[in-house]
This record gives sequence, C-alpha cells and structure tokens, in this order.
Amino acid sequence: MANTFLDKIINESFIREPYAKKSWWATDLNSCLRGVFYRRKGLPPTSVISPDRMGIMEVGKIVEEWIVNKVKQSGSLVAEQLRVEAPEYEASGKVDLIVDEGGRPILYEIKSTNSFSFKYKIKNKEPQSQHKLQTLFYLWRLRNHGHQEISHIDLSNLEGRIIYVSRDDLNRLIIPVDYSENAIKPVVEQLKILNDFWKKDELPPIPESVIYDEERGKWGINWVCDFCAYHELCAGRDWRARAEIEVKERNGAIGN
Ligand code: SF4
Repeated sequence: MANTFLDKIINESFIREPYAKKSWWATDLNSCLRGVFYRRKGLPPTSVISPDRMGIMEVGKIVEEWIVNKVKQSGSLVAEQLRVEAPEYEASGKVDLIVDEGGRPILYEIKSTNSFSFKYKIKNKEPQSQHKLQTLFYLWRLRNHGHQEISHIDLSNLEGRIIYVSRDDLNRLIIPVDYSENAIKPVVEQLKILNDFWKKDELPPIPESVIYDEERGKWGINWVCDFCAYHELCAGRDWRARAEIEVKERNGAIGN
C-alpha cells in the first residue's frame, strides 16, 4: 500500500474532465481532424490515455517552464503563454515564448522529444509538420495583427523558431520556420475544413491508422491515434490489434 500512495497522487493528477472547447486550437493543426472535432464537442473519452503517455505531455510542460525561466532570469523575456486568436476561423492558441534577441523579437515554440527522434532531427533539420503549422499560425496572426499585450513591439517581421529539447539530456536543436503566403495555406485550408464540418455537424474523415515512419524507416501506428481517447467512437474497440497486424504485414513486405 505504502509504495503506491505517491503513484496514485501523480496518476490522479493526470485525470482531466472533458470540456467543450470554444475554438479550434493551433495544436490541432495536422493532427486527426476527427479527434479535434470530438474534443471541441467535449465528448467524454471512450478509452483512457495511459499514464506514460500523459507523463510525456507533463514532461513537455516541465521542459517549457525550465526554458522560460532561463529566459526570464536573463531579462530577455518579451512574452510567454501569449494568447493568439483567429476569430474569423474560430481558432486560437498560446505562444510559448517570445524572446528579445538584441532588439529583435523572436518567437519560440518549445517541444520536448525522445532522444531517438532528437537525433533524427539533428540529421534532417526538419521540424514535425504539426509543430511547423502551429508556429506558422502564430506568425500569421502576430505579423498581420500585432498583439494588444505587447502593442509597443513591431511584430510585422516576427521570426519563428522551434526549439526541440531532448528529454534525455536537455540537449537542444533550434530550427527556423520560414514564413510566406504559401506556407500559411495549409493552416487556412485545415481550419476551413474544420469549420465546414462543424457547421454541417458532420464528422471529418479519419486519418490512416498505420503510417510510414520516416524516422524509423518502417511502418508504425499513427501517433495521432496513440494520443487519442475516442477509438471506440470511430475506429472500433479492436483498432490497435488490427493496426498492429497491419504494421507487421507492411513491414514484412519491405523486409523490416
Ligand atoms: S481514433 Fe484515430 S481516427 Fe479516431 S478520432 Fe482518434 S485519432 Fe482520429
């Protein structure tokens, strides 16, 4: 009993009550749009996300706080947790950090990652597409509209970067995100899809449950589904078992 007490406190802290979201979130971009739809409706989850998955999300918050505190101590903090909105698309999000770098504001999105994925990113210097779209969303809004909380700062040429932090040793990799009219198109397209389906009250299509993992060079279960709590609603109770069989078959076919 004694040795499970603390564990219980921690695991219970992970439990979140479902609630209906008022808008789409920047973090929804490039994830499963159907899951996003369910979450905005505030539907109760049909499956439990395991404590280790919740733990990964918690580590993300701890790493973010660690970096923001370092910047605060250095006196270079412009903003943290800055709320950014796109009312005409019913979307919003929170910028992790804006740093004053020699008089220029630079936006940072902070992401923690496992060491395997970190090493891959060091080699490829490419951010995950979900992180890129999230950052582009912020740049799009702030460059065009500024922000009332930091209205004294010119954000019209704001630069954005993603900082990946290895969960093993806090090693860091910073990848710039290039802003352009073209780059912003998928952000707008996805928000339009979400709003169209929302108005019709129809479910957006489901993504593939099995995808090719570039980092590992083989097929794997789509990670967005791994973090989703609605499998029984759209994919069925045995979705994981089915997806695992498919992963095996596809990897067998490519000799992995
Ligand atoms: S189970 Fe997969 S397809 Fe269904 S909502 Fe969740 S992430 Fe989307």
